[in-house]
Amino acid sequence: MTESLHSFLSSGLNNLESKGLLNTIDTLQGPNGPLITVNGNQLINLASNNYLGFADKKELIDANISATKKWGVGAGAVRPINGTLQIHDQLEKKIAEFKGTEDALAYQSGFNANMGAIAAVMNKKDAILSDELNHASIIDGSRLSGAKIIRIKHKDMTDLENKAKEATESGLYEKVMYITDGVFSMDGDIQDLPAVVKIAEKYNLITYVDDAHGSGVMGKGAGTVKSFGLQDKIDFQMGTLSKAVGVVGGYVAGKGELIKWLKSQSRSFLFSTSITPGSAAAVIEALDEIMSHPEYVEQLWDNARYFKKRIKEIGFNIGESETPISPVIIGDEAKTQKFSELLIKNGVYAKPIVYPTVPLGTGRIRNMPMRTHTKEMLDTAIEVYKKVGNELNYL
Ligand SMILES: *Cc1c(COP(=O)(O)O)cnc(C)c1O
Repeated sequence: MTESLHSFLSSGLNNLESKGLLNTIDTLQGPNGPLITVNGNQLINLASNNYLGFADKKELIDANISATKKWGVGAGAVRPINGTLQIHDQLEKKIAEFKGTEDALAYQSGFNANMGAIAAVMNKKDAILSDELNHASIIDGSRLSGAKIIRIKHKDMTDLENKAKEATESGLYEKVMYITDGVFSMDGDIQDLPAVVKIAEKYNLITYVDDAHGSGVMGKGAGTVKSFGLQDKIDFQMGTLSKAVGVVGGYVAGKGELIKWLKSQSRSFLFSTSITPGSAAAVIEALDEIMSHPEYVEQLWDNARYFKKRIKEIGFNIGESETPISPVIIGDEAKTQKFSELLIKNGVYAKPIVYPTVPLGTGRIRNMPMRTHTKEMLDTAIEVYKKVGNELNYL
């Protein structure tokens, strides 16, 4: 290896290891379902984003296989050359129907959607007002655009209004965008979108909502924007097809004019081959299932409410969560790591989230109840929480 690369890597790796920031990644020995197998041990899975249990659902697998047989394993080219198959058009129609918009554009992932969509409309003459807890892909996509990024205190509408007023009245910027998660992934709280829309209308802000954790979860599954009936007021409804939808891919849904623009100006769409025909077909099946089986989303919420109620009853703090995302706040970073280790040792797979992902002293275990957990699995998980809580003198 080149000496300069080696010295960079070895000192960097030592530094990460000494700070406890080196990633160790567990490999699953089967699907990411309600129970998973890691190192030969079967564990109750409270770590996935597979909210509805769609990642290994039979109907989606069948749709994937038959589309693969019909269309092949790959799209064969980037979309604007000749990598747009009919199944991609069908996918985008289905996303637009699901989101209640005129049109939609599919990307290879949610991360790619944010990398490609923000910079397609914003540039260095513009400003982006951004909630301070926004996802990493929003931050990176915003940086790529070259626009001035203005941090807004989390869900603070007074701060948003003040900074929107300042940015629009300063005359420094051609366009001003407000961008936010619909559901925040670390705390499970929901952005106050009706208040956002009022401010956006007053100051003529472009609005962009990343609903990665809202789709398939909020508003009968259609997402946070639609749950507030705001699909005509939010310019960009961005999301992922890899969480509740269970497959892979990302999208932007909005007005036809916006999608037309993205199709010729969004670089991650233009210069990267789209999702496979099999994935597209599995997503179409998933969206049909969400729309025709409202009980799936209900079952998810039933399990989530049950888990949160029981975990509170035994004495844990679950913070501000309003969604199935169920953080259990431990506080101290080392204690949070230890807590997760003991959970896993006792049969419950739930991961620690600590600084710098969340503020110092607010370390937590992030629990993701699924539609496909049985009450018995959740009860067992609660018993393990009780045991570990007592062992660490936390309860
Ligand atoms: C997970 C997530 C993404 C990325 O989606 P992928 O499809 O996994 O790339 C983007 N934004 C938010 C808010 C997310 O939670």
